[in-house]
Amino acid sequence: MIVKPRIRGFICTTAHPHGCAAHVNQQIDYVSTSGTATAAAFGNVLVLGCSGGYGLASRIVAGFGCGAKTLGVSFEKAPTENKTASAGWYNNKAFEARASAQGLYAKTLDGDAFSDAMRAQVLDTIKADLGKIDLVVYSLASPVRRHPQTEVLHRSSIKPLGEVLDIKTVHVEKGEVSNVALEPATDEEVADTVKVMGGEDWQYWIEALLAADLLAANAKTVAYTYIGSELTWPIYWEGTLGKAKADLDRASGEIQQKLDSIGGDSRVAVLKAIVSQASAAIPVVPLYAALLFQVMKEQGSHETCIEHIDRLFASQLQPAANMRLDEAGRIRVDDLELAEVVQAEVKRRWPLVSTENLPQLGDLAGFREDFLMIFGFGIEGVDYQADVDPQSIN
Ligand code: NAD
Repeated sequence: MIVKPRIRGFICTTAHPHGCAAHVNQQIDYVSTSGTATAAAFGNVLVLGCSGGYGLASRIVAGFGCGAKTLGVSFEKAPTENKTASAGWYNNKAFEARASAQGLYAKTLDGDAFSDAMRAQVLDTIKADLGKIDLVVYSLASPVRRHPQTEVLHRSSIKPLGEVLDIKTVHVEKGEVSNVALEPATDEEVADTVKVMGGEDWQYWIEALLAADLLAANAKTVAYTYIGSELTWPIYWEGTLGKAKADLDRASGEIQQKLDSIGGDSRVAVLKAIVSQASAAIPVVPLYAALLFQVMKEQGSHETCIEHIDRLFASQLQPAANMRLDEAGRIRVDDLELAEVVQAEVKRRWPLVSTENLPQLGDLAGFREDFLMIFGFGIEGVDYQADVDPQSIN
């Protein structure tokens, strides 16, 4: 079949097998040739949420920058005869193929990381293949979580708190800037969002690994968060997602107490805004990101997802790194996004931006390109007219 992007709202229901592979290879090439994370920093790395966005970039930097053996967990869809796989499924295959070509251990387990069954499978795999884990990266982003103890299916919401929020946004496909009125969350929606995107599951993972004695001495764990600019706070940091992220901070403190026994370190790392499957779904964020990308590109401080994670590993996660921590003990690598010179310019443009001037003030085109690249489209060197078998990559 000829695979074309089929966009429905903020997701693309197709993924290009060769495009996804080329996208992964580009990131591996970046880390192998220009990356700064140094080899031998970590022996064995577990990445929860390894198939896309920041988790995939972390796996690439761990594997190809630090020479680590990586075990990844993700929840992806395999292809059928006439339907492409999800992008992450192809990404995992591409990662494994490159790792295998270099004699680097890489195994991916596909299934629900929130379930006890997946935890058991991961523990068994570590025992059989790896021994102990030096770094656990927690990079899950999901709209739902079935709680392993109660079997309740929790759904997250992306909503403000308190009152109706009237705020500027953009329709990514049409490029229309308008105001939307977002209904506030109920208490139940807040609690559900915390269950899905908060820190409880991260704690379950670390507790299970510790109980099975599968964490190496001085092991580290890092979970990713976003704080961002005041412009997005009403929908993010001060909304349902922010409550979940505050719970991640709580969990990090409790995990740290448990890791003290092995000299370990638990951190939440604050990352910059990028286009990912998860972030494209958040209202307001695409407009903010379009302005941000334009300003950062103009000022020469824009980083891609892989560049950002390479910097995180090289400057913050390596042993003896001089960590840039905030008052809550979080790692801050969102310093370039939040630089005064960047934020002042984004804030100046925010009230001015309209459908007509968005192409000058913002980089919606770059946002759209990044979005398509997540699904393997628009990658240099890929023949998009060629007939491809969605199952040809196995
Ligand atoms: P993403 O959508 O690109 O990736 C999410 C990953 O989670 C995928 O590998 C997916 O397969 C996996 N996953 C989802 N549900 C799963 C399940 N039930 N079982 C197993 N795997 C599952 O997301 P992302 O944007 O890279 O986000 C990762 C983390 O980074 C999140 O905590 C997010 O809040 C944080 N973050 C994102 C941004 C951003 O701008 N995208 C910025 C800062 C921090």
